[in-house]
Amino acid sequence: RFRALVVERTADGGVAAAVRERTTDDLPEGELLVRVAYSSVNYKDGLAIRPDGKILTRYPMVPGIDLAGVVVASEDDRFRPGDRILATGYGLGVSHEGGFSEWARLPADWAVPLPEGMTLKEGMALGTAGFTAALSVHRLLEWGLTPERGPVLVTGATGGVGSMAVAILARLGFTVVASTGKTEAHDFLRRLGASEVLDREAVAAESRKALEKERWAAAVDPVGGRTTPSVLKAIRYGGAIALSGLAGGSALETTVFPFILRGVSLLGIDSVYCPMSLREELWRRLAGPWKPPELLAMTREVGLDGLIDALEAILRGAVQGRIVVRLGGE
Ligand code: NAP
Repeated sequence: RFRALVVERTADGGVAAAVRERTTDDLPEGELLVRVAYSSVNYKDGLAIRPDGKILTRYPMVPGIDLAGVVVASEDDRFRPGDRILATGYGLGVSHEGGFSEWARLPADWAVPLPEGMTLKEGMALGTAGFTAALSVHRLLEWGLTPERGPVLVTGATGGVGSMAVAILARLGFTVVASTGKTEAHDFLRRLGASEVLDREAVAAESRKALEKERWAAAVDPVGGRTTPSVLKAIRYGGAIALSGLAGGSALETTVFPFILRGVSLLGIDSVYCPMSLREELWRRLAGPWKPPELLAMTREVGLDGLIDALEAILRGAVQGRIVVRLGGE
């Protein structure tokens, strides 16, 4: 028997999350049986325990959109017992029971071999948020961004995607401007590598103008909502935004002017179905030249028992850095 966080529908149409005992017979189909070492707390996991979160496709469900652990049994030639793997996205913690469980079973096609130079804990300290930050940076580099083009803005900078993006960009030699709502976190952001810290209300402030003064060469934006249109107006000629999230809202109201007068590009970032070859390549970079230097220092650890509090905190936008969930198997 082992423990997992299970989300159930209640009779009144709400949802209830609780830690429950389970057996491997309760686990879904998949070629890999994994003893989970760590999962992590992502914004989407917070939404998963809300009745109106629109994340889980069925109930009961074990949330947790990522996990890192050790293969115990494999029906796939690519993996053997003892292999260390990590997995993010696909149906994990959405339609297929996820990482908030001491054991998991998943399709071998979803597993990434833990790259050399990375521990299981580091894998989940990065987790979906770190991977999404890496994917955002990768898309901007592929699109042509270089440090010489100017400063890069990161919104929601103390959050998971934001803090990881600040650290990766700073490591790659970019001048990073961090936007945050947490006045007490300015030192934290400077330690991560931000050269300048802005108040998020100033960044998202509405103006009547179609375009503002050109400020940033590019932006990594996991916030969306009111923030994105405002940032679009201040992206320099030929710049781009890598847009990954909706922590500040999902509506996007803009005009065509940043696109047709300044040639600005909006790059959509999806980590869930990112192709496996690129996934493996980005995880290798995250284990080496892109690894945030203070990764574990900006990571807090909780167990299954402290998890619901952590999920509620991420929905309030109150998390600084990353939270890993320790599930024991290492
Ligand atoms: P997170 O740790 O909570 O980070 C979000 C940050 O956004 C917060 O820490 C806060 O930073 C800021 N924020 C929160 N509420 C806000 C509001 N109402 N208005 C403006 N800013 C607000 O969450 P995360 O796990 O990094 O995820 C961030 C977003 O990216 C989520 O929307 C998530 O769904 C999305 N995401 C998308 C993908 C993908 O594949 N596209 C993958 C991972 C995550 P400050 O206090 O510093 O301002």
